[in-house]
Amino acid sequence: MWVYRLKGTPWELDPILPELFDRGARGLEEREGEVLAYFQAPLELPFGGEWEELPDEDWLSAWRRDLKPALAPPFVVLAPWHAWEGPEVPLVIEPGMAFGTGHHETTRLALMALARHLRPGEKVLDLGTGSGILAIAAEKLGGEALGADIDPAVLPQAEANAKRNGVSPRFLLGSLEEALPHGPFSLVVANLFAELHAAFAPRYREALVPGGRLLLTGILREKAPSVREALEGAGFLPLEEEGEGEWVLLAYRR
Ligand code: SAM
Repeated sequence: MWVYRLKGTPWELDPILPELFDRGARGLEEREGEVLAYFQAPLELPFGGEWEELPDEDWLSAWRRDLKPALAPPFVVLAPWHAWEGPEVPLVIEPGMAFGTGHHETTRLALMALARHLRPGEKVLDLGTGSGILAIAAEKLGGEALGADIDPAVLPQAEANAKRNGVSPRFLLGSLEEALPHGPFSLVVANLFAELHAAFAPRYREALVPGGRLLLTGILREKAPSVREALEGAGFLPLEEEGEGEWVLLAYRR
């Protein structure tokens, strides 16, 4: 792997970035006053940058080194090689193919909401479990969690992550329909997307005990009204809304 190092101000560099991709860049890294463009092999480029060859394993070690613990109070999400000494509750997640390393706003919103809403002993459904992170967090808070996902590839990763954290949520291949016979739940947490939440609204009701809480994220801010309308149409009562960047989390009570 080769890196092409180009110095300049953002307004000098920004117009060049698409051209670097057009010419075969595999990835770009923007740093203060420079851009690093990664290429399979060096080539003639008219931008005045400098080439440097990188041993292949540098990619992986640089990525591992740059992956930071992600704070989502009271949790901190750590990769297995991270060390942490703070008072936060650690969630150790192997960053693999499954979504849910704690670096996405929606995962962090869901983790913080779980800590506000979940009481020990409650039965929790984590719909769209991915890496298993929310089911694992729910168990660490004293809940009894079931994680469901329609992607069979993520379930072994979720299981392995649960083991790393010394908890044992159950995992199931499927969606809300398949999870319903295992309910009713005191709390449903789901990091999916707005259209799916709106379509699931009536069935979320079936999944919950009366007074149960629904924590929904994966919702882009501009799509929140359609989810609110569907939930309120299904008889849910609003509890709270949290946002980070362009993402929101909606909390409702049945
Ligand atoms: N829960 C993790 C988190 O919060 O970081 C992962 C969320 S990731 C955005 C969404 C996950 O939902 C993916 O693993 C995907 O396979 C799964 N998924 C998508 N549609 C689904 C559905 N209809 N039912 C269950 N899971 C679904």
